[in-house]
Amino acid sequence: MSILEEIETRQEDFAGWRRALHENPGLGFEESFAADLVERTLHGFGFDEVHAGIGGTGVVGVLRGKRNSNRAIGLRADMDALPIQEETGKPWASKVPGVMHACGHDGHTATLLAAAWQLSRTRDFAGTVNFIFQPAEEGLGGALAMLRDGLLERFPCDRLYAYHNFPGMETGRIYTRPGRMMAGCSFFTIKVAGRGGHAALPQTTVDAAQIAANIVTTAQSIVARNLDPNETGIVSFTDVYAGTNSHNVIPDKATLKGCLRYYAKPVAALMKQRLEEVAKGVAATYGGKAEIGFDDNFVPLVNDAEATDIAIAAAVQTVGPDRVHDDVAPFTGSEDFAFMTERVPGSYVMVGQGPGAMPHNPAYDFNDEIIPVAASYFCRLVARELA
Ligand SMILES: [Zn+2]
Ligand SMILES: [Zn+2]
Repeated sequence: MSILEEIETRQEDFAGWRRALHENPGLGFEESFAADLVERTLHGFGFDEVHAGIGGTGVVGVLRGKRNSNRAIGLRADMDALPIQEETGKPWASKVPGVMHACGHDGHTATLLAAAWQLSRTRDFAGTVNFIFQPAEEGLGGALAMLRDGLLERFPCDRLYAYHNFPGMETGRIYTRPGRMMAGCSFFTIKVAGRGGHAALPQTTVDAAQIAANIVTTAQSIVARNLDPNETGIVSFTDVYAGTNSHNVIPDKATLKGCLRYYAKPVAALMKQRLEEVAKGVAATYGGKAEIGFDDNFVPLVNDAEATDIAIAAAVQTVGPDRVHDDVAPFTGSEDFAFMTERVPGSYVMVGQGPGAMPHNPAYDFNDEIIPVAASYFCRLVARELA
């Protein structure tokens, strides 16, 4: 039997765990159901060490191979859910109102447990595999919390690997690329101060709504006129607020929120500098003031070239060369795993999960069929890295 076939023999259990995780979701740093299930299950598999409470609700399981070596690799899954009211109508739909696994982290956790089962049965490798179950991937800083808690000092890893499910792409196909894989992200908040007054007497006011509107349009010139045309950047305004729910009061202040996306840190620095200049300059033009604050919540995810070669080879062994795409376009979404691969070289792949709603949508559900594929991919990685 191939590794894939062996894992498929227990697919009913793995899908059962996934559905239990789905029914009992936890927001970032509140994934106690998932963390307990992971801890119990890894102990059941006879892991050498299981450490809970790393970076809040994070769990690390340590599995040593039957052959000695100083080499170690890390396999990482995320465990958190999102503040979304589920609308799938599935029998395993969330039992927690307003919280659901709408990004498939329930599936990622179940997949890493499936790989843990297979690897703990055979231990047919030289060195150590660290199974990293991280909290709070969805923008709350779970990876950094684990790193600050000494993740890589306590469980040193030569390389790190992770995957994400990919709706809309054919089930079981694997997508990756060396270099730029996912974007970095900086949230921004702009506060505009003007002078309020009567809508019939505009000459006595500094209209914060007008300033806000001009900031939104002028900020698009940052990508169009300041960025190298061969680079990529996004400026998105997601919340623009001014006013007092009236038809005759010119607002004295406005708040604008949004995010910047980029693949390179110098691009981030340029976009932040220009956005500050645009906000302050536009406000000054109309007689007002603006302040801006940034929150850099994701760094760009860069796939290490050597780690990605190994990932591609493991993917080809798992699903065959025709089902591996090693030159996918980079994704403008972001991924918390990037904070880990800033410290240790690593690689990230996407696994297609067929038609269905996109992540972060109330109709989204993880496709259990990809658990054996992604788990065997992890096992093949271990075989290559720790031969
Ligand atoms: Zn997500
Ligand atoms: Zn996700």
